[in-house]
Amino acid sequence: MKLYSTNNKDLRVSFKEAVFNSMPQDKGLYMPVEIPQLDPAFIENIEQYTLPEIAYQVASALLKDEIPADDLQSLIADAINFEAPAVKLDDKTFVLELFHGPSLAFKDFGARFMSRVMAYFLKDGEQLLDVLVATSGDTGGAVALGFLGVPNTRVTILYPEGKVSPIQELQLTTNGENIRAIEVKGTFDDCQALVKQAFADAELNARFRLTSANSINISRLIPQTFYYFNTYAQLKKQGHNAVVFSVPSGNFGNIGAGLLAYKLGLPVKQFIAATNVNDTVPRFLATGNYETKPSTQTYSNAMDVGAPSNWVRIMDLFNQDVEALKKVVTAYRFTDEETLAGIKAIDNQFNYVACPHTAIAYLAVEKYRQENPTDESAAVFLSTAHACKFPDIFPADIAVKIEIPEQVTALESKPKQADQLGVDFEGFKAYLLKG
Ligand SMILES: *Cc1c(COP(=O)(O)O)cnc(C)c1O
Repeated sequence: MKLYSTNNKDLRVSFKEAVFNSMPQDKGLYMPVEIPQLDPAFIENIEQYTLPEIAYQVASALLKDEIPADDLQSLIADAINFEAPAVKLDDKTFVLELFHGPSLAFKDFGARFMSRVMAYFLKDGEQLLDVLVATSGDTGGAVALGFLGVPNTRVTILYPEGKVSPIQELQLTTNGENIRAIEVKGTFDDCQALVKQAFADAELNARFRLTSANSINISRLIPQTFYYFNTYAQLKKQGHNAVVFSVPSGNFGNIGAGLLAYKLGLPVKQFIAATNVNDTVPRFLATGNYETKPSTQTYSNAMDVGAPSNWVRIMDLFNQDVEALKKVVTAYRFTDEETLAGIKAIDNQFNYVACPHTAIAYLAVEKYRQENPTDESAAVFLSTAHACKFPDIFPADIAVKIEIPEQVTALESKPKQADQLGVDFEGFKAYLLKG
C-alpha cells in the first residue's frame, strides 16, 4: 500500500513510513493511493466469518504487500482479542458495543493494532520509538494500555487538566514502565497543538524518533474498518441487508474508517455523523462553509473538537465532491440537555445505560428516522465507550445500574504519576529534551 499526502497528491510513501511518521512534512494526512475493492463474494457470504477472520480479509486487502499473511493474522489475533457485539434493542435498532477492550473505549481497536504494527516494524537495535499523543480522555487510555510493556517504545500522553473523568485519569496515569503522562493546564485543542508543533520541530525530530498515536495515524484508521464489516455480518445473519450507521464524532476518525469501509465495498445505506455542540461538520454540510472554532466543553468530552483532524481525509475519499458526500453522510448536532434526555430515553425505552457519546448517536438515529420516515433500514448506533467512564453525567437512578468492569477496579489501588505543564510549546519542548 502506497500513501499520498492530502496536501500533495504526488507524494508516495510506504506504509511503514506513514506508520512511523504519522503526518507528512506538509502537514497533510496520509491516505492510500488506491483503495482496493473487496471480493464481492466475501461480502456476499460475510455472515459466515468471525471478527478476526473479517479483520484479516479487510487488512490483507490493504496490507498484503506490507505484512506477510501469517504475521498479519497473528498480529490481528493479538490486537483484536475482544468482542464487538451489535446488541439488539428492538427489531430495527442495534447498539454496537465497542467498549469491550482494555480501556473500555473503541479506541482500543486503533491503539492495539497500531502498537503491534509498530512493534512488528521495529527491528532490533533501532532507535527507541517515542510516541506522542494528545488525548481528550479515551485516546490516551487506549494508547497507554496498547503500548504498555511494548519493547523499544516510550509513550508521552498529554491530557487537559480537570477535563478527563477519574477512570480516564487512572488509565492515563497509573501505568509507569514505558508510559508517562503530562497534565496540561489547557484544553484538548491545546494538547493537540503542542503535539503537532513537536512533530514540526526540526530539533526534536533530529533528537528523537517521534511518532504520533492520534487518530491521524493511518494504522489506527484501518482496524476501525473491521467492526463496520463485522456489524454488517451480524445484521445480515439476522436478515437485515440495508444498514444505517450512526457514529458519535469528534475528530472524525471513527466515521472516516466507516467511510473507508464503504469505499472498500461495504454496502451501507447511510452514515450519520452525530456531534455535540462542537458542530463544525454539521454546519459545513448545512451551509457549505467549513469554519473551525475553539472547542466547547460538553458532557460528551471525547467529541469536544472544534477542528476535526480527519475531515480532510473524508473530503479526499469523496474527491472533494460535497454533493456526493452528502448522499452518504448526514450530520446532526445535539446539546448537553438533549444528551441527558437521550440517556434517559434509552434507559426508559430499552433499559440500557448509554454513555453520553453513545446517547448522541442514538438521538441522531431518532432524528434521521423522523426526517426519513420511508427508510426501513436497520439502524446501528455506535457505543464508543462504557458508561462507567463518565460517572458524573448520570442521574442517580441510572448511575446505580452501571457496572464497573474489572479492568477499572484493578487500577484504583495504584498511585497517580503525572507531570504538570502549561500550554506554551517552549515548556513542552524543554520537557522532551530533558529525555
Ligand atoms: C474518541 C471518541 C469519540 C470520537 O471519535 P472520533 O474518531 O474522534 O470522531 C467518540 N466517543 C468516544 C467515547 C471517544 O473516545
